[in-house]
Amino acid sequence: MVVGWRRLASGVILAVSFFLLAAGPLAAAEAPDLLPLLEAFDHPTLGEAVNVSGLRLQGPHASFVLESGRAAPVSAGDRIVGLFFEGRGAFEYLSADPIEAPVVVFNAKKGSSLKPEKTADGIRLQDSFKRLLWLTAGNPLPELSGSPAPPLADAFRKHRDKFGRIHAPPLSHDFAIQRIDAPDAPLIWAELDGGREDLLYVFDGTDDPAEGLATLNSSESNETLLRRYLWLAPLSVQPIGRDPRDPPKPRFLLTDVDVRLQASAGNDAKLTVVETLVPQDRPARALRIDADSIVYAQAGSNLEERFEKVRRVTDESGRVLPFDHRLDELVVALAEPAPVGQPLKLRFEIDGDFLVRPRGDSYWELGIWPWFPVPPLSGQAYTFRSEVRVPEPFVPFAPGKTLRRAKEGAENVLETKIDTPIQFAVILAGRYDMEEIERDGVTIRVATYALDNPRGRKNLMQIASEVISYYQGFLGPFPFPELNILEINDYGYGQAPPATMFITKEAFDPLAGDMSRYEAQETAKIFAHEIAHQYWGIVVRIPSQEEQWLAESFAEYCSSLFIRDRRSAAMATKIAKQWRHGAGIAGDAAPIPLANRVWITDDARKRAAIRTGLLYDKGPLLLADLHKQVGDEAFRAFLRSCQTTLGWKFGTTKEIARLLQAASGRDFMPFFEKYYWGVEMPKD
Ligand SMILES: [Zn+2]
Repeated sequence: MVVGWRRLASGVILAVSFFLLAAGPLAAAEAPDLLPLLEAFDHPTLGEAVNVSGLRLQGPHASFVLESGRAAPVSAGDRIVGLFFEGRGAFEYLSADPIEAPVVVFNAKKGSSLKPEKTADGIRLQDSFKRLLWLTAGNPLPELSGSPAPPLADAFRKHRDKFGRIHAPPLSHDFAIQRIDAPDAPLIWAELDGGREDLLYVFDGTDDPAEGLATLNSSESNETLLRRYLWLAPLSVQPIGRDPRDPPKPRFLLTDVDVRLQASAGNDAKLTVVETLVPQDRPARALRIDADSIVYAQAGSNLEERFEKVRRVTDESGRVLPFDHRLDELVVALAEPAPVGQPLKLRFEIDGDFLVRPRGDSYWELGIWPWFPVPPLSGQAYTFRSEVRVPEPFVPFAPGKTLRRAKEGAENVLETKIDTPIQFAVILAGRYDMEEIERDGVTIRVATYALDNPRGRKNLMQIASEVISYYQGFLGPFPFPELNILEINDYGYGQAPPATMFITKEAFDPLAGDMSRYEAQETAKIFAHEIAHQYWGIVVRIPSQEEQWLAESFAEYCSSLFIRDRRSAAMATKIAKQWRHGAGIAGDAAPIPLANRVWITDDARKRAAIRTGLLYDKGPLLLADLHKQVGDEAFRAFLRSCQTTLGWKFGTTKEIARLLQAASGRDFMPFFEKYYWGVEMPKD
């Protein structure tokens, strides 16, 4: 699926005052009400059309020329907020960020019919348009003067219907946040229709200021439920006023999550979440946060839509706050400005039929998707507490130290807590049998699904304790007192949220303990990768998708060290060969930090191969190369210092480069520029 627009441009704050001056001083008066504001932007109205020619509109790296046609002012409520145009128009966009240049060219060529042009200033993209909706705030509006023209109402309605199908939070959320929380910040939203490509251009200065361009695509799925949407594929996302090598600054830091989940025996559940959020940089009047409202479940041969609805949001004084929950975003207006740096407690009451049992199986999973409200990655660093109640015979699992596991009436109850700041807390429950051992101070709990399989469990407890003891040797103490290893009734993958491992059923093959078998070595490798995530991606958190290699490439490389030292040197050599092959497939499509940006129309398999090639192959290849260059001792010291220095913090590649320099005495920034932020491949 296409990565959401906001997920790409996610983040937060501001250095674009040159744009702000033109808007004139905006009073810090009463913030407008959220719900009427949303209503006004959800149903903008059109004024009288006039003939226009040669009118020029501008964003920081974009220009729109309305060569000839008709235009009418667009109002939201009683304010004019932009214009709608039909006629002949020309559009030009410049990507001036050299890091994204390769993937701008790649996506334009493979994922659009635009012709990217390399210029001295960057990559230029050009298109024409027949219709343009241009909405703006914090910017001067163009003067519309000309002779009266026939009305544009029909064209406007059709245009709105089409662009309203984009699978992204509505534009009303952006404009409401701007008006309430950042009235001085510039915002431009432009929808271009009828050129070679249908395009969405957004310049958003409210949070992490960024400017971006995406194509609109019909769904690649056969599912009716997904085909009703248009999906955005990014051509360019340029941070403004921030080095793209630096992480986005969060608007809020989520520092504590307290979850109470009451599950039914069916699909329904009630969820109460109390969150502590800390505004960053400036007082906050409103909150924009990720929260999925639709969950899809396979029902026979089709997808079925399920809902997870936020019913009520209250603050610490019990005041009910106005909110709007649509698609995967929740907007909440606060009762009064929340001061910078001061914890703000919000309580979310949520319910719905969002307990999805894959293929009708006897388990459900609230996984690594936003099943409770979360800010973007750079804003997630929360301690966690859970209380989960599920009807028997389901057995619940939640991450962290077990405070209580009990049977109350016909319910199984579990309470857990984590005192270190994490992301990606998950809850799962189902027909499980479990057992646990304690090794090196860590409780390893293995749970098998549906069939009681003590031998499979014993093998996995053994492998897990071997891997943990190996990593403790050079990465430091295992980060959690308990690790849940949970069988997933499927094949071929593993996943590692905090203090948890989801692992598919082939790992539970009773013969997995026979280390001479290929399958057993594969299982050991997957285990070593997933357990490494507790260090890479969890102790060292990633602040954005751009730093995902700190999780995936580092876990993959550490797992290869385990294989080499504790299983088979021959297998380790084979793995290293695969890295070169996979990195070759990725080629120069994108640099590693933009692995998740790659887009090829109608070829999900190739897209995935390139992403894998960058994060799971080229990344480890770079680490292997650095390991060789600095030697075993310095490299292990480097990995250890990443854990101690960046432990329970956000990691960045800039920091990593600094720590490598400290461990080795050599400056590796040029190496990272070339091979990490650049698309070059190190030689053998
Ligand atoms: Zn992984």
